[in-house]
Amino acid sequence: MTNWLDRAACRDVDPETFFPTGAGRLTERQETRAKSVCRRCPVRSECLHSAQLHASDDGVWGGLDAGERRALRRTRAPRAEQGAA
Ligand code: SF4
Repeated sequence: MTNWLDRAACRDVDPETFFPTGAGRLTERQETRAKSVCRRCPVRSECLHSAQLHASDDGVWGGLDAGERRALRRTRAPRAEQGAA
């Protein structure tokens, strides 16, 4: 079985690109750059699924920043609970 991380588009990109700190235009630019790498990543869905599974609250994973992933979790949680009932 192939590890999906072996096919990640970010393998050769500075990891700090995906973990912008602070706020402001520089951070926004860093986040935009990270998301642009994710857009061409063949394992984006696997990455996002893993980040959601581990409730990762830092950095860009699967093309989404932490706030976007939290929002996604909120929209999906009620459906998961309905399915479990
Ligand atoms: S989706 Fe983005 S963070 Fe995830 S493996 Fe691909 S390039 Fe890396």
